[in-house]
Amino acid sequence: MSAQIERIKTLIIGSGPAGYTAAIYAARADLKPVVYTGMEPGGQLTTTTEVDNFPGYPEGIDGPSMMVQLQQQAERFGTEVRIGMITAITLSDEVGGIHVATVDNDKTIEAETVIISTGASARYLNIPSEQRLRGGGVSACAVCDGFFYKGQDVAIVGGGDTAAEEASYLANICNKVTMLVRKDHMRASKAMQHRVTSLPNVDLRYNTEVDEVLGDQVVEGLRMVNNQTGEKEDIAITGLFIAIGHTPNTDIFKGQLDMDDTGYLITKGKSTKTNRPGVFACGDSQDKEYRQAITAAGTGCMAALDAERYLATIETPEEVA
Ligand SMILES: Cc1cc2nc3c(=O)[nH]c(=O)nc-3n(C[C@H](O)[C@H](O)[C@H](O)COP(=O)(O)OP(=O)(O)OC[C@H]3O[C@@H](n4cnc5c(N)ncnc54)[C@H](O)[C@@H]3O)c2cc1C
Repeated sequence: MSAQIERIKTLIIGSGPAGYTAAIYAARADLKPVVYTGMEPGGQLTTTTEVDNFPGYPEGIDGPSMMVQLQQQAERFGTEVRIGMITAITLSDEVGGIHVATVDNDKTIEAETVIISTGASARYLNIPSEQRLRGGGVSACAVCDGFFYKGQDVAIVGGGDTAAEEASYLANICNKVTMLVRKDHMRASKAMQHRVTSLPNVDLRYNTEVDEVLGDQVVEGLRMVNNQTGEKEDIAITGLFIAIGHTPNTDIFKGQLDMDDTGYLITKGKSTKTNRPGVFACGDSQDKEYRQAITAAGTGCMAALDAERYLATIETPEEVA
């Protein structure tokens, strides 16, 4: 056996709420999980300052601290957390088969079970003022951060169903919501469009894009530009929500695992089982509906229980020579 090959019981790919919750359950079930953190140790919550809706924190907690605590909890039961990216993987299609993963294009890991918790990345506009003010009033999650702008004027960018849904969520709690839609129509379903257009405090702007987010340390305003006329307009806002979609981090599984046309992994029924035996998916990598830390953690728990039950039903595979 090459020194570079290591055999483990449970490989957990990703270190967000789904991965660490899976690790807590897997470690307590003696599956000796190894978590690879990927490029964003702690996951998406490390990009936010305030998490107010995760149960168990009555005063709220900042995202990075919460993720350190989840890591420590997983490590307390023997989880091994390693910095590294799974850069390639070959998933067995046989019950009891061994899955082979490559870490950082170098080391090989053989795993009896694989838990995928690679999450999804929110898409941003990628203009400098937006990037500078991320966490300072620019957010990609209205359900998570909208509350902090209660009674204030905010803006939202996007024209799909999620944008429409988030706009109506914000309209409920904020004073005024300016909605910027790049085209001359919304992509959202007719029902969602109707919902948004019927809200008196939503100011819908078609053919409109963000020119610049205004503010030094925090968002103070927005310079909008009409992409037909070039006309610019400044408005005062305290929060800007980007709702132009998410990209699930599932590229390395393409061609092996069932996924929908946007790349979200498909799991079977109410379980976390994928189409390959011993491979389970949890968190935002398989959820485009709820996308919350608590739902990610819930499915992480399910994935570990599914992995444990799977291992209990198969014979222990032979050790590699
Ligand atoms: C700005 C913002 C604020 C938010 N605020 C809240 C909030 O207040 N409350 C709330 O409930 N939710 C909030 N959310 C949503 C929440 O962060 C996500 O729903 C949750 O983090 C999803 O967890 P996850 O474990 O599925 O994935 P993620 O948190 O996305 O973690 C994915 C992990 O996978 C790793 N990874 C990816 N590819 C690989 C690979 N090939 N190899 C190894 N590792 C890999 C990444 O490095 C990362 O560690 C917020 C999201 C954003 C963007």
